Amino acid sequence: MKKIVLLGASGSIGTQTIDVVKHHDDEFMIVAVSIGHNVKKLEELLVDLPHLKAICVANHEDMLYFQDKYPNYEYYDGDEGLKALASLDDYDIFVNAVVGFRGLVPLLCAIEHDKVIALANKESLVCGGELVKKALKEHPVPIYPIDSEHSAIFQCLACGKKNEVDKLIVTASGGSFRDYSREDLANVSVKQALNHPNWNMGGRITIDSATMMNKAFEVIEAHYLFDIPFEKIDVLIHRESIIHSMVQYIDHSIIAQLGSADMRIPIQVALGYPNRYDMPQSEPLDFLSIGSLHFEKASFERYPLLSLAYEVGAKKGNLGTIINGADEEAVSLFLKEKISFLDIETSIFEAIKNVPFISDPSLDDIVESDRLARVFVRSLWKGE
Ligand code: MG
Repeated sequence: MKKIVLLGASGSIGTQTIDVVKHHDDEFMIVAVSIGHNVKKLEELLVDLPHLKAICVANHEDMLYFQDKYPNYEYYDGDEGLKALASLDDYDIFVNAVVGFRGLVPLLCAIEHDKVIALANKESLVCGGELVKKALKEHPVPIYPIDSEHSAIFQCLACGKKNEVDKLIVTASGGSFRDYSREDLANVSVKQALNHPNWNMGGRITIDSATMMNKAFEVIEAHYLFDIPFEKIDVLIHRESIIHSMVQYIDHSIIAQLGSADMRIPIQVALGYPNRYDMPQSEPLDFLSIGSLHFEKASFERYPLLSLAYEVGAKKGNLGTIINGADEEAVSLFLKEKISFLDIETSIFEAIKNVPFISDPSLDDIVESDRLARVFVRSLWKGE
């Protein structure tokens, strides 16, 4: 039995991780969860997860409430609580499915405690890729991706050696506005932006898909997960989201991983590796119902944020942190209807110009750069 600590249990990936574990309860058990602010969900989980021992919630008051009502668990709160869960002794796999920058420090803790990592939190690699690399040198634990593209690449890389890889081809659906021109984007609504054509995901990632910020983050994520140079990572628009990504080898063989748009597949690959398990709760992909697959160029003119991946590749330092912090803040303002869709891009490009660049940042520098980027974006739109 593999024991799992799950950060972000109430989110989209967290919920699907619990579904996978329930269907394979002879292989996996969840021993600790973090739940953020969704305390109603926690009451359900106490019934659903029989092996649960430790719980982290965002607020201290919520913690006191649960401690009083259900005293048979260990409780933690806030960001310190996430670190405490990552640092628990008695578990095997650390599933990091929190959204945003706050995933970085717990990830570093879990690596330092030599845990196997299943990573859905891409921000930790976008912001702290170099720090994660350093931590892995001292504690060489495997990181299995929970991101459909990276799970695909991980599976395709099994078909050759690393020095035989010519390039990674990361596919992108193009997001909610892929058929809109730049002019059309000026007045799009939050509701339209949240309507992703293929995937049913959390709010931030759906908006990040529409701006292509998510794909830029995934290029950075691929670089750090697989140690492949940025110039060997291409993005290709593939509107059906059936090919989840590909690896082209030096002999021009291209290996692709295909499947339904169901995140439980990459979750199960990450938890189970090197084993595969059945998936009784879904049907396999039916090629005849798809008919045909399409591919288009991912243009930097149409999606200027995509180009930032390669800028981060060239400059590194705290640039990924500035971009991510600005994006997290701008997307939150957009979801509250305080700024327009195109203001998200403006926020990020302005933050890059205004937040000081640091070429070799420490963890403290990264935390401070994240804060500065957020403060900058909030001040940029004050009074809007
Ligand atoms: Mg993805």
